[in-house]
Amino acid sequence: MTLHTRSLESLRADLDARALSAVELAQAFLARIEASPHNAFIDVRPELTLAQARAADRRLAAGERTPLLGIPLAHKDIFVTEGWRSTAGSRMLADYVSPFDASVVTRLQAAGAVCLGKTNCDEFAMGSSNENSWFGAVRNPWDAAAIPGGSSGGSAAAVAADLAPLATGTDTGGSVRQPASMCGITGIKPTYGRVSRFGMIAFASSLDQGGAMGRSASDCAHLLSAMAGFDPRDSTSIERPDEDYSRDLERPLSGLRIGLPREFFGAGLDADVRAPLEAALSELRAQGAVTVEVSLPRTALSIPAYYVIAPAEASSNLSRFDGVRYGHRAAHYTDLADMYARTRAEGFGPEVRRRILVGAYVLSHGYYDAYYLKAQKLRRLIADDFRAVLTEVDVIAGPVSPTVAWNIGERSDDPVRNYLADIFTLPASLAGLPGLSMPVGFGAGGRPVGLQLIGRVFDEARLLNVAHRFQRATDWHQRRPAPGGAAGASA
Ligand code: GLN
Repeated sequence: MTLHTRSLESLRADLDARALSAVELAQAFLARIEASPHNAFIDVRPELTLAQARAADRRLAAGERTPLLGIPLAHKDIFVTEGWRSTAGSRMLADYVSPFDASVVTRLQAAGAVCLGKTNCDEFAMGSSNENSWFGAVRNPWDAAAIPGGSSGGSAAAVAADLAPLATGTDTGGSVRQPASMCGITGIKPTYGRVSRFGMIAFASSLDQGGAMGRSASDCAHLLSAMAGFDPRDSTSIERPDEDYSRDLERPLSGLRIGLPREFFGAGLDADVRAPLEAALSELRAQGAVTVEVSLPRTALSIPAYYVIAPAEASSNLSRFDGVRYGHRAAHYTDLADMYARTRAEGFGPEVRRRILVGAYVLSHGYYDAYYLKAQKLRRLIADDFRAVLTEVDVIAGPVSPTVAWNIGERSDDPVRNYLADIFTLPASLAGLPGLSMPVGFGAGGRPVGLQLIGRVFDEARLLNVAHRFQRATDWHQRRPAPGGAAGASA
């Protein structure tokens, strides 16, 4: 019986019945990771994984029963971990081992989940193709020539290739939703402040948010329930009780009002992406949901707003990497200033350096008002637009990405083209709202297409409910790439 393709429920049942051990399960996934050609993992340490699996088996033997006990998962290498390296996909931290765990890691370990290792990502989570990693590009399991999306590309590829049943990701401007869409899996970014950022290597602190990635909405609901919750160590964590995000999964959709922003379905959307989206919306209507056209008039402005605010915060956050305290230090330098300059020039890749330059510029005297302050004002207006629309509809639906995954190398020398492709994910990030991506079919070249759902603050359970009802009636989320990644869907 192949363990790696089984649902969380079926694994749960066998673990609970002690027909399967957490050690056997972890070994099955470790073997798949070892044999995988996707470059989805940066650090794998079987001895640490198996120690966690043995601990889970002891808890199971003692009669403990919780949703994630003994279930393996992978962490995006933005969450710091004791034991495994914590690199953020950067040469700057290539050999860094954290002395403590991120809160998300601690919470999941307490829930009994077994860590399989650290997944590849764009450097400091900056990117949408995973090509900005010091550890090399990740291959999309559906097509080895394609990017997996980014920045949580390793996590998305790991779930899509059945190297891990669940994975954590982080989303600053789309990095959970967009790779989930491009790899044909489900991913949810919760409301800003819901998942602790403590120990999540910072990119843009007012936007960064941890999220859950899995094959289905139901799997993501279990993962998110264990990840999310108040953390006094994160000053922007929201004081709110823990939630069971699977509580509303089965709720019927009759009467649900879905807003379709006209700006999300315009000329910028490729026809091969639009068709599966339309079919998915028809399915939701068949289940009793009502779709209405709405408008988010400042959608296009989310790109300049985000690409000022995020680099501004990044330039500040990344100032800590100076070669003094931890991380890379240049081998040769003349004095202290030269050591800083060489260390940072060597340790950061081109996209990270570009963002630091942009960020320092927009924050500098004389430009702050013209760029940074203006971007903050736009951000507020974008959030206001969402607030108005979400009083009339329950959720918003649209594309995640205007195109399917592009080819590795195709856009790597065109940063602005990459930025423009974020148009449908940036708005919810700027507004701090929860967003989900679920697989709804395939576009050009047999590459996956995701539908995005955006909800009101703290309405994660609603998004998961809509996705789950869709997944009960369809099998897109059960499709698997052919081994070797030749594009084309096999059930
Ligand atoms: N693609 C966006 C960027 O490059 C978003 C990345 C993210 O969400 N971490 O900044």
